[in-house]
Amino acid sequence: MTPSVSPSPTSAAAATPRSAARSAAPGMAPLSAKARAAGLLDIRTIIPDALVDLRYKTSDNFVGVRLYPADARCLVHRSMAAGLITAAARLRREGFRLVFWDCYRPHSVQVHMFKIVPNPDWVARPGPYATSHESGRSVDVTLAYASPATPCASARRVGGRCLLSMGTNFDDFTARAHAFATDGVSSTAQRNRAVLRHAMNAGGIVVYAGEWWHFDGPGSGVPRPHLDAPLS
Ligand SMILES: [Zn+2]
Repeated sequence: MTPSVSPSPTSAAAATPRSAARSAAPGMAPLSAKARAAGLLDIRTIIPDALVDLRYKTSDNFVGVRLYPADARCLVHRSMAAGLITAAARLRREGFRLVFWDCYRPHSVQVHMFKIVPNPDWVARPGPYATSHESGRSVDVTLAYASPATPCASARRVGGRCLLSMGTNFDDFTARAHAFATDGVSSTAQRNRAVLRHAMNAGGIVVYAGEWWHFDGPGSGVPRPHLDAPLS
């Protein structure tokens, strides 16, 4: 959730593909005027087979209460579109799908989270400007097997698909959550984390060393005005 580093933009990830020009796919309710004005896109517009499991839409998160409305969507800034499309395509070829746990996060939610976990190592300190999730330029993701028929040792499924073993759950505030942790993280989980990182890196999106699931897009560390856009 936290990153304070600003990844180097790449030409591939900085471009916005033509397919991302629409902010909502056919059959999808249009985005709010504020979300469109902020350059946000519904992830399903750019990655139609993305699995979306917004954990803050449920009480199944570190806060233990629902922080997002029931109709919240996974919104990302258009500057992430090309990179995420590249990552998803690579993962698709390898038999995996991206699962989105969190995307754009409104400032009011960030303030709420920091009150509960006032540790800037784990929750970005809310400030006068938006960076990272608050600017729609960071995502929290994991991997699922593309085939619903894949045997599932993990207790958790998303969209009928089994999640890969990554060594910890989302928002695990232990050292095992560090992206490159080895102590207490199985070799399988270390390998799965690397698969995710390499695919995201191919799209110019980089992991936050403190959390294996958090990835920053181009310019995510640049302070910008708060977006003030709703999640639906
Ligand atoms: Zn995050």
